Amino acid sequence: QAKARGRNGYQFYAPSMTGEGVERLRLEAMLRRSIDKNEIFLNFQPQVEIDTGRLVGVEALVRWNSPELGVVPPIRFIPLAEDIGFISQLGKWVLQEACRQMMAWEAQGLAVPKIAVNLSVKQFERGSIATMVADVLKETGLDPHRLQLEVTESVIMNTGDALAFINDLHAIGVGLAIDDFGTGYSSLAYLKQMPVQTLKIDRSFIKDISTDINDEAITIAIIQLGKSLNLSVIAEGVETEEQADFLLRHGCNLAQGYYYSKPVMPEILFEAWNAKALT
Ligand code: C2E
Ligand code: MG
Ligand code: MG
Ligand code: MG
Repeated sequence: QAKARGRNGYQFYAPSMTGEGVERLRLEAMLRRSIDKNEIFLNFQPQVEIDTGRLVGVEALVRWNSPELGVVPPIRFIPLAEDIGFISQLGKWVLQEACRQMMAWEAQGLAVPKIAVNLSVKQFERGSIATMVADVLKETGLDPHRLQLEVTESVIMNTGDALAFINDLHAIGVGLAIDDFGTGYSSLAYLKQMPVQTLKIDRSFIKDISTDINDEAITIAIIQLGKSLNLSVIAEGVETEEQADFLLRHGCNLAQGYYYSKPVMPEILFEAWNAKALT
């Protein structure tokens, strides 16, 4: 890249004219068209009660199937969507599709108690997020109590009006979870004021739970904190039976992770699930 520009070559080009700039513009243009071209879709990952194996909910996780790039993971396009002002449209599409899928499962007699949907901070900045969510619930017919919105801890701590937005969402009856909990320095006083119901223990702590005593201590502390504040606690990134056993032993009975299922297409959620239940 540097070589292609030549020695000191960068002096002659505005950033937007470099190869990288052009590449980014192309990517942006492709992303903007992705919804209309039906390239965006959702995967769903089970949330499970550890002791019974019961399905308590699913999390919707967005994917972009680009004809040029293949399936692009959200870490590669959510930040871009945020930058180019596309996240409101994308976030609304995700919510509509997630709610629609819940109604479709129900029509098929398949019981998914709850759906979790991730929200971006940029959706908060736009205001009127509660109105958007209420509209989508009304249009799809999903009971607000069956929707849980996930917001990362850092978003809550770094967004000035987060509490106001969260109160608005709470008022329409949806559940709220703090995602990636443990990574964002929440003040406990702040946490206590929030109408949230769930803490999701960040995957990074679960990863080395049985070998790293610090991760072990933090996980136990989060479980205790949840108990004290009367919140439910779910662990993300559970990949092994040992991790699930550890969580159960320490009073966390909810988990999500590859040990149970990877995120999957909606048609195979129940196949994957039933196969697992039989083993
Ligand atoms: P997240 O909300 O914390 O979602 C969990 C991520 O961990 C997912 O990655 C999931 O596939 C992955 N995961 C689940 N279990 C395991 C496991 O056992 N091991 C490992 N190694 N990974 C596991 P994914 O789907 O790539 O999503 C990454 C992040 O992108 C999400 O983190 C979320 O912050 C964001 N994201 C995904 N979908 C949306 C969306 O619709 N809207 C917004 N705003 N953000 C989204
Ligand atoms: Mg999440
Ligand atoms: Mg998370
Ligand atoms: Mg995460």
